[in-house]
Amino acid sequence: MATIDPSWYKEQFTIGLVAAICTAASATLVQSLNIDQMLPDPNTLAASLSVFQLKQVPQRALPLAMASEQRVEGFVQELATQQTKIEANFTFNPPKLFQGKTIEEVPLKSQEKVIALTFDDGPWKDHTDSILKILQDNDVKGTFFFIGQHLQQFPEQAKRVVAAGHAVANHTWNHHYHNVDSTIAAKEIGDTNNLMYKLTGAKSKIFRPPGGVMDNGLVAYAHSQNYVVAMWSSDAREASGPTVETLVNNVVSSASPGGIVLMHDGGGDRSTTVAALPIVITQLRQQGYKFVTLPQLFTMKQQDEESFTTATPARPSTP
Ligand SMILES: [Zn+2]
Repeated sequence: MATIDPSWYKEQFTIGLVAAICTAASATLVQSLNIDQMLPDPNTLAASLSVFQLKQVPQRALPLAMASEQRVEGFVQELATQQTKIEANFTFNPPKLFQGKTIEEVPLKSQEKVIALTFDDGPWKDHTDSILKILQDNDVKGTFFFIGQHLQQFPEQAKRVVAAGHAVANHTWNHHYHNVDSTIAAKEIGDTNNLMYKLTGAKSKIFRPPGGVMDNGLVAYAHSQNYVVAMWSSDAREASGPTVETLVNNVVSSASPGGIVLMHDGGGDRSTTVAALPIVITQLRQQGYKFVTLPQLFTMKQQDEESFTTATPARPSTP
């Protein structure tokens, strides 16, 4: 009859002990950092932790308890670092300068030729992915204004948008144009945010009212919650049924430094937008534009303001 070496039991016990310590330490950290509210997506965390555990804590290779404390400390530290990175990458909060404000463009003092491409009414079947491919091929990051019910219909597309490093924002659940009271407004914006967070791990306090309607209660609510209401300065005007050439011209002829371009990846057949986008990017680049996301544009403006307020005062004029 085969016998089992008693040291095997000892090793198994040690592995179990270390695993228990790791679990307890993680639970404590999660509690102290309120991680359950901050983390983007339980699946994302689980995936990153399991990778981490595989890389950092190969259980069979662990020596006995003497090394376990250091390992646990390292584990906890790494968990906190990972958490900070995840949080920073997936939270789109405007700087104070923009909170509760409405903007149409964000010109910089330097007149730097930056421009933000934004895409409304997605995620959407096919067209969101086509636009993602074009942006990737051209090394451009954009900002996507999601509709809640479309997030529900096309969750995988939404995940791909965030995974590709684009910024995301809120465009309400139902895309209402009619008047809403503050309870409905809170639900329209809140439900969309909640689903966006659940699916992608992203949080955003950037809002655009459906149809650009400013006075139906949605913008008032968004302002009260310190959202930045991001309108636009260039419009592809897809609703007018333009040809590819006209759509390109609609955007390019109205482009300006610090401008915000409105296009659509969802809400209908966007094949004209898909066909026009590579031309828009090429022509704007030829004019010297660099593409930024809205959060990047906000940060640039904030730095602009800071450098202005800390700049040396102008020399007094000579008599
Ligand atoms: Zn819309």
